[in-house]
Amino acid sequence: MIFWFSIAEKILASTAVGVIFLYENFLACVIINEIFYRGVFSMKIILTGDRPTGKLHLGHYVGSLRERVRLQNSGEFDEIYIMIADAQALTDHAGTPAKVHENILNVALDYLAVGIDPAKSTIFIQSQIPQLFELTAYYMNIVTVSRLERNPTVKSEIAQKNFETSIPAGFLCYPVSQAADITAFDANLVPVGEDQAPMLEQTREIVRKMHELYGEGILVEPEIFLPQSQVCRRLPGIDGKAKMSKTLGNCIYLSDDSATVAAKIKDMYTDPTHIKISDPGHIEGNVVFTYLDAFAEDTAKVAELKEHYQRGGLGDVAVKKYLREVLEETLEPIRRRHAQYEARPDEVMDILKEGTKKARAKASQVLNRVKRAMKIDYFNV
Ligand code: ATP
Ligand code: MG
Repeated sequence: MIFWFSIAEKILASTAVGVIFLYENFLACVIINEIFYRGVFSMKIILTGDRPTGKLHLGHYVGSLRERVRLQNSGEFDEIYIMIADAQALTDHAGTPAKVHENILNVALDYLAVGIDPAKSTIFIQSQIPQLFELTAYYMNIVTVSRLERNPTVKSEIAQKNFETSIPAGFLCYPVSQAADITAFDANLVPVGEDQAPMLEQTREIVRKMHELYGEGILVEPEIFLPQSQVCRRLPGIDGKAKMSKTLGNCIYLSDDSATVAAKIKDMYTDPTHIKISDPGHIEGNVVFTYLDAFAEDTAKVAELKEHYQRGGLGDVAVKKYLREVLEETLEPIRRRHAQYEARPDEVMDILKEGTKKARAKASQVLNRVKRAMKIDYFNV
């Protein structure tokens, strides 16, 4: 009898030690996880990017690039990722990969020319990060086709590209891949133009759904960062159309030379009812004034010009001359830096190679976290 008691005591004691041991281990894991997630989720991380479908233009500059450079130089961010979205470009350029290929260098040159500093910002090429496509595949399961079809930006792009009767599946789904791009870097801030607001909303929905299905704390829910000024959120084209866009071909490119910019300003849409100089003019929808609002620092002078134009007695030629001076002031230093980097293409490619390596390591960490939460990390690798 005593013998059985002592065995039972031993079993109980060792079970108790085991339980305490397990509990301590569990506690240690919880604490480590807490520290890890607090650390990750309190970091300030930016992700943004552009499609290499052409050179970058003034719309990119005021909508996103100018803000990126300002945020980069503020020193407030722990990590900044800038993505050249070649895979996204292929969703509507599947037949012209050479165009996408050649614009990788153009976009990189434009980045460096506006002041994106590879020592502070990681510039990388989307297609070289396989983790993004893996993440996209998992997100695809939690997004419905009807939700994708409701996206207003995609809707207008489908009409613009005459895709109504046959939409490439990849194109319809690019907001999902964009959600993967943003979340794969734990980005909490995404500086973009207004057309990207529906993509950010979709990303936030995906993050919430992932948390609902697989537990809280897996991903970071990002915020959009729009320029303060309304006109910069969606800069119109030189033809007066709602958006300056490579696809619409109504752009002033950052690398346009002085004579090209002058010619484009000369043709710029103003007020068709303002025929004689003495006629009172309209400034609403008048692209020259919109650009002055977006670029001129002397706001008092712009206000004075607007007042004079509306009163009558101020011709388009004079306002355009002032816009030319203002744009030259912005573009001249950009052109200079562009020429410097253009002469060193190997150095630019090395910047992209290094950035891509760094971005791959980060995306891999996040993907592992997602797979753990989804219980598909069978071999813990
Ligand atoms: P594409 O015609 O190939 O779609 P795009 O000119 O629309 O080219 P994107 O590469 O799609 O350029 O856009 C990159 C970034 O620039 C996004 O953040 C977008 O919001 C911003 N952007 C593009 N055009 C404008 C614009 N006219 N005004 C403000 N932001 C813009
Ligand atoms: Mg676009």
